[in-house]
Amino acid sequence: MSDIHDQAPRRITILGATGSIGCNTLDVMAHLGGRGAFEVPAITGMGNIDLLARQARTAGAGFAVTADPDRYQDLKQALSGSGIEVGAGPSALVEAGERETDLVMAGIVGIAGLAPTLAAVSRGADIALANKECLVSAGDLFATAMTKGGGRLLPVDSEHNAIFQVLEQAQRHAVERIILTASGGPFRDYSREQMAAVTPEVAAAHPNWSMGLKISIDSASMFNKALEMIEARHLFGMEPEQIEVIIHPQSIVHSMVGYCDGSVLAQLGAPDMRHAIGYAISHPRRAPLPVERLDFAKLAKLEFHAPDETRFPALALARTAMQRGGLQGAVLNGAKETALEAFIAGKIGFLQMADIVAATMDQLDDGRRASTIEDVYAADREARTIAKAMMERPA
Ligand code: NDP
Ligand code: MG
Repeated sequence: MSDIHDQAPRRITILGATGSIGCNTLDVMAHLGGRGAFEVPAITGMGNIDLLARQARTAGAGFAVTADPDRYQDLKQALSGSGIEVGAGPSALVEAGERETDLVMAGIVGIAGLAPTLAAVSRGADIALANKECLVSAGDLFATAMTKGGGRLLPVDSEHNAIFQVLEQAQRHAVERIILTASGGPFRDYSREQMAAVTPEVAAAHPNWSMGLKISIDSASMFNKALEMIEARHLFGMEPEQIEVIIHPQSIVHSMVGYCDGSVLAQLGAPDMRHAIGYAISHPRRAPLPVERLDFAKLAKLEFHAPDETRFPALALARTAMQRGGLQGAVLNGAKETALEAFIAGKIGFLQMADIVAATMDQLDDGRRASTIEDVYAADREARTIAKAMMERPA
């Protein structure tokens, strides 16, 4: 029986190596054979220079890049004597994406991940896509670039990875709906009054998943699920009304596909991102992963209930963005990132985030579509400016 270790080393570039997805990716790679099984043509981070340098040395990376142009010397110094090439700033980030490789793990957070990931797509690399914003902001352009580049798109977001695992290609025409599960986050049972008073620290404490700061808070507001609905539309070619969300507090069922004969196929597993990451980087094989095995005798119960869209307006906003189409995904994301940063900085309350996103989307609901990536950046910038101005205006 051949396994992953019989192959020539697989080349994996990691964009956002110092983040939660990046660290989990390196952990999975270490479990699957480390430097004997993998080469790392390029690795990127931003502010965490010490960690980036350690990761680059351990992995024997070819090229290490910090997205922050002011940290070039720091990284250069941290890697002195290693022989690892060093770069900094946006163009070096794109160069990292362009380096010859088999697969790119797209693990940068936010719209900043778009340019380097698109560079990798254009080079024809397979893309393990964790970054949601590529599809939410630039779904149509991204899909076109993928087709042109010829690489495979392997979803890493756990819900989409689950759907990818159970979506039978031969039965694609028979898919009736996809059902994204959501834990409901830490405020699942909070009233709106309680939510109005929460702090960023409380919002970042996810009950089941260990993730980066922004996505953890997005989970609490359910903007994470909103982004995932739009992501699903682009990944699986679904109509907005075919995408359902169900609250499942245990996060064991990672998502489901419903077929026209009433069958529902689900993927289950422990809530551990190394599962989806390991699946994506090993595809089309399955590799033995160091994740907890489910013990069904010990799983007390699996619960499901409908989300409350009055307390979590983000879900309705995602549906509106999908129905309006064009650049509304980019606008939703740009306004959301701006509002999220303001919430983290203590400038606005938790519930104001959705109000700001809704108002920005309405202001920019002008039917514009994206012909180029510049159109996406322009819509993103405009959404941020409008959202910021709204927050600066006295109430
Ligand atoms: P983190 O915040 O933990 O990590 C983000 C990474 O991107 C870090 O390497 C960080 O560098 C780097 N980075 C931050 N800002 C910039 C920038 N402006 N330019 C270039 N690089 C930057 O995020 P996560 O790992 O949690 O998430 C990454 C992406 O994956 C997000 O889009 C998220 O929605 C998605 N995702 C994450 C999941 C998870 O479990 N974490 C699950 C599903 C999807 P540094 O830290 O050195 O500053
Ligand atoms: Mg997810």
